[in-house]
Amino acid sequence: MLRAETEIAKTELSNNWIDVKNLTVNRLKLKVGMGFEVNMKWLPGTVKHKNGKQLLEEVIGNTIFIYTEELAEAKYLLTHGFIEWLLNKHTRKYRLLINKFIELFEQIQYEEKEKIIDAITKLLIENLENDLQACTS
Ligand SMILES: [Zn+2]
Repeated sequence: MLRAETEIAKTELSNNWIDVKNLTVNRLKLKVGMGFEVNMKWLPGTVKHKNGKQLLEEVIGNTIFIYTEELAEAKYLLTHGFIEWLLNKHTRKYRLLINKFIELFEQIQYEEKEKIIDAITKLLIENLENDLQACTS
């Protein structure tokens, strides 16, 4: 393909991507009246894995990433991603709560562990000093 043709093909593809975005997520945003902060990025050919499976789409924060090269599939994946974003929003407060619990648990556990380590350290040092005194006397 000639350079000019490649450029035209690229433009057509990006125009199609804009159409796909507008026909799916942008319409869904208006219909549900939510998710106006959601962005969409198409990175065709990106290879990413999660739990041993190749990802075709991924939602990170407020961005839906589409990795498939097929525009028809992108339409499906964008809708999937938007629903995923809505569910993430719903579960966010629980994740925050659980993370706070873990943080607190780790803090308490760390302080208790430090106390136990200090107690064992004192016992060992006392024991070593007693051994030393037994040897020298
Ligand atoms: Zn998904």
